[in-house]
Amino acid sequence: MENLKEEKLATVLGVRTLTASAFVLRFERSELAFQAGQYVKLGIPDQPERREYSIYSPVTASYLEILVQLVDTASFSFRLKQLRSGDHLWVSGPYGSFNLEDNYANDENIFIASGTGISPFHCMVLSYPRLHYTLLHGVRNLNEGYDRTIYRNGQYIQCTTSESGSEFYGRVTDYLRKHKPDSKAHYYLCGNRAMINEVRDLLMAADVPAINMHVEIYF
Ligand SMILES: Cc1cc2nc3c(=O)[nH]c(=O)nc-3n(C[C@H](O)[C@H](O)[C@H](O)COP(=O)(O)OP(=O)(O)OC[C@H]3O[C@@H](n4cnc5c(N)ncnc54)[C@H](O)[C@@H]3O)c2cc1C
Repeated sequence: MENLKEEKLATVLGVRTLTASAFVLRFERSELAFQAGQYVKLGIPDQPERREYSIYSPVTASYLEILVQLVDTASFSFRLKQLRSGDHLWVSGPYGSFNLEDNYANDENIFIASGTGISPFHCMVLSYPRLHYTLLHGVRNLNEGYDRTIYRNGQYIQCTTSESGSEFYGRVTDYLRKHKPDSKAHYYLCGNRAMINEVRDLLMAADVPAINMHVEIYF
């Protein structure tokens, strides 16, 4: 296994649609070694843009997967969705240090995600079957519980803002106001900046030390 700090071409293995605006793209892993929580940079041949995507598939898989939110039809994410098996992608990485602490198996880990920010947690949960975790997932609709059946019963708490019927009707921040955070747990926050800032303020008010907060901001 190696680090691909220089870009390599990888073959696309397939696109799996999850909702009208989210999909999983699978492509060749080649020899890429990574830790759960890290991300890759992707490019489409003959196009200048590069974008970052957390790795969704476990460290044990022979392929790489990413979970992508389709932003709009003029965007990079839209062009990713048009790819088909046999097409190619530029891949470099891995990047980032959004990883579990070494003593993850003994710690209580609280994962807090908005939207596709669930991706690194999907990778961590599949990579480490003995992980102690609770995952709070903030989305608008019920159908955005991406691949939720992989999470153990009671450990996935979907927080929906536009529909009731999930584990919690409201935002992840509303959930944290109702359920006082454990100041000894490790918190991993991933997604949009506004959610992360608000959650961080709530955790600080609950005396969670900054060293126990880990953050990955997508936009
Ligand atoms: C470290 C890192 C990891 C990332 N991992 C992922 C990932 O696993 N999955 C993923 O879908 N994106 C991820 N992103 C965001 C991704 O890199 C792109 O920014 C995103 O796909 C939008 O690019 P675009 O060209 O399609 O749209 P752009 O035209 O570049 O973006 C338009 C707007 O879309 C919004 N936006 C961007 N990303 C998202 C999103 N994920 N969900 C909702 N709205 C968004 C923002 O408001 C942005 O200004 C990550 C970003 C970083 C920095």
